[in-house]
Amino acid sequence: MTTYDPDNIFAKILRGDIPCHKVYEDDAALVFMDVMPQSPGHTLVVPKAPSRNLLDADPAVLAKMVPLVQKIAIAAKAAFNADGITLWQFNEPAGGQTVFHLHYHVIPRYEGQPLRAHAGKMEDAEVLKANAAKLKAALG
Ligand code: 5GP
Repeated sequence: MTTYDPDNIFAKILRGDIPCHKVYEDDAALVFMDVMPQSPGHTLVVPKAPSRNLLDADPAVLAKMVPLVQKIAIAAKAAFNADGITLWQFNEPAGGQTVFHLHYHVIPRYEGQPLRAHAGKMEDAEVLKANAAKLKAALG
């Protein structure tokens, strides 16, 4: 299937049908912790407008996302004392995508530390909660 599925997991989170560790919300986007972080503080920036990925997204929505991704990246680098940030955005299964609602990964990185597996191990809820609070505080 290459159409948008309104029952994908992020659509359910956006509707409030499934909980998340929320960091930030505005009219255009919801930002929350990845439940299977590849590095401590791994965060997802998710536009509210439905699109499967970058390939079918409205350019007007995309234009709003990068400034927000930048804001989250700057705050995450500070909040998690990271040496750098990896930004990822996957499109279609062959491109590594596993959840089919457009999103950006903001991943704190540390010198010499490889990433954990993509969508690998579920993090403890208390850790996710604490990390969401740290990032929220850094956003001010
Ligand atoms: P993709 O492969 O589509 O770029 O990444 C999907 C991401 O969503 C993965 O990093 C995975 O860990 C994360 N993820 C999958 N299910 C859930 C969920 O129910 N809640 C949250 N917060 N993240 C999820």
